[in-house]
Amino acid sequence: MNSILITGGAGYIGSHTVRQLASNYQVVVIDNLVYGHKDAIVDSNVLLVEGDLGDTELVRSLFTEYGFDAVIHFAAYAYVGESVTEPAKYYQNNTAAPLNLLDVMNEFNCKKFIFSSTCATYGNPIYVPIDEKHPQAPINPYGQSKLMLEKILMDYDYAYGIKSVRLRYFNACGASQDAVIGEDHDPETHLIPLALMSVKGEFPQLTVFGTDYPTPDGTCIRDYIHVEDLGRAHVLAYDYLTSGGDSLSCNLGTGRGVSVKEIIDTCKEVTGQEVPHIYGERRAGDPPELVADPTLAKEKLGWVAKHKDVKDSIQDAWNWMEKAHGGRYAK
Ligand code: UDP
Repeated sequence: MNSILITGGAGYIGSHTVRQLASNYQVVVIDNLVYGHKDAIVDSNVLLVEGDLGDTELVRSLFTEYGFDAVIHFAAYAYVGESVTEPAKYYQNNTAAPLNLLDVMNEFNCKKFIFSSTCATYGNPIYVPIDEKHPQAPINPYGQSKLMLEKILMDYDYAYGIKSVRLRYFNACGASQDAVIGEDHDPETHLIPLALMSVKGEFPQLTVFGTDYPTPDGTCIRDYIHVEDLGRAHVLAYDYLTSGGDSLSCNLGTGRGVSVKEIIDTCKEVTGQEVPHIYGERRAGDPPELVADPTLAKEKLGWVAKHKDVKDSIQDAWNWMEKAHGGRYAK
């Protein structure tokens, strides 16, 4: 059975991916648990190692013990606003720390790397839907820190033969369909969880960031992709590299745009309750519309989103939040 190292595997997207890999591979998760949750690792055969990627000796000892065939790299900070005020944290953690990991991979002749990248690497789109040929011009340090690693990976392929799949996620959402794991950010800043938390009375009221965008209803349009669809893309990316696939960057989205107002309406439909909300100013750095062209992921990885309707994702997020734990992992 091949071994795979998953960094940040206790986080939101990482944990959903770990569950999909756990029965067919020996999975080792390294997570510093700053934002990740121990309880998001539910498979007893998955080893969770609490530690930092910057700890080269720890990473080396894991490679010595498990002889990893591949690395799936999720570990990163992902608060756009914070990245503007604390860029050092983002370049350290998202760009510099993975260099240690790549060095150790080289040392141990591990040549497959799957990377959580983001549509934030595109910056303000000049056309939508966005394909992979769209220019990459991030407008915040978060996007920049991810783009830098994408570029480093291209150089590492050329020089060291490390093959990588760079998966550019659009807006991750939802929870596992069995409501066992889900989204639990602290602080929470994302639209769907905040809308549902407003319904539950756990958040005073949602603020809609801007109603004067050049979109049909004036609110921003995003491409919301179910977290289990994202997880499956990593499994397929691993299969792709295992069968000799070349390095690749791929968008992961549904190809459909949904506005903030449509999300609020759908949350009302799913919960049967009003979503308390007010209209506010635009949030800095929000492009009016971000929608993926996911054609390449289909061609190269055989991946298409199964959950095309955001209502499915909102239903799963709501099921997870309605459980006894209230959508929260134990502290
Ligand atoms: N949004 C909003 N109110 C909120 C949070 C988000 O109106 O409290 C909007 C935001 O402007 C964007 C969309 O919802 O257009 C998705 O934002 P989110 O933070 O969930 O994801 P992002 O697009 O920033 O990755």
